Amino acid sequence: MTDLSNPVQLIDRFGRTVDYLRISITDRCDFRCVYCMAEEMTFLPRAQILTLEEIVTLAKAFAELGVKKIRVTGGEPLVRKGALGLLENIGQIESLTELVITTNGSQLETMATALKEAGVNASISAWIHWMLINLRQSPERVIYSKYSEVFKPPGQSALSG
Ligand code: SF4
Repeated sequence: MTDLSNPVQLIDRFGRTVDYLRISITDRCDFRCVYCMAEEMTFLPRAQILTLEEIVTLAKAFAELGVKKIRVTGGEPLVRKGALGLLENIGQIESLTELVITTNGSQLETMATALKEAGVNASISAWIHWMLINLRQSPERVIYSKYSEVFKPPGQSALSG
């Protein structure tokens, strides 16, 4: 639905208001899920990747155009150097109601609390897929028992809660 209180909005050619943005901050990952990456991957050169400062500038620009929810993805976003600071900066954009990352979970052992403090919620779907394929475990039980104190279940925002 169009928000008439915001005079500057992103509206697609079907008249739909665009209020959700996904930003991929890296094409690199510390996993090699068979459906996603080859064993020998060629990654983009650094010169073709947006700097962290450019990503924050873009996030602010889109927020001014009415974006309320931003999802940060990769590759695995948390393997990018400076990812936490980037998320903290994006999380400070006042008009955002939700900031989410899609992560494989590999860095959460050390970063979960800091992410929570930065107002970031995490979707760990890629890790669920990886564990299903590689470990044949019950991934939901493993993940949500381990991080349930830190993150809310999928669909709920750490910022809006
Ligand atoms: S964790 Fe995600 S990004 Fe990484 S290899 Fe697997 S599917 Fe690809």
